[in-house]
Amino acid sequence: MAAAASSSSPPAAITCRAAVAWGPGQALVMEDVEVAPPGPLEIRVKVVSTSICRSDVTQWQSTAQPDLFPRIFGHEASGSVRILVSLLLLTQVVTMLTA
Ligand SMILES: [Zn+2]
Repeated sequence: MAAAASSSSPPAAITCRAAVAWGPGQALVMEDVEVAPPGPLEIRVKVVSTSICRSDVTQWQSTAQPDLFPRIFGHEASGSVRILVSLLLLTQVVTMLTA
């Protein structure tokens, strides 16, 4: 397991395993994907568990927006914050999640 970046080093791109959907209704494919470093209004979260909810399944099966593929589903995830660019951003995320 890689250690989190220290606060003095700039965030770097990382490689993660993900179940990728390449098209509507197509089987998910486990792949290595490169994740860019977080931008000024983003955080990096190490996901420890996730699920595929009904919204994901609906989007996965939908042919209405084929240009949105390839996609990685699982927006209902839990994990820990690994890189935080702004403490104000974390405050806003916590406020949003607890509202
Ligand atoms: Zn959902």
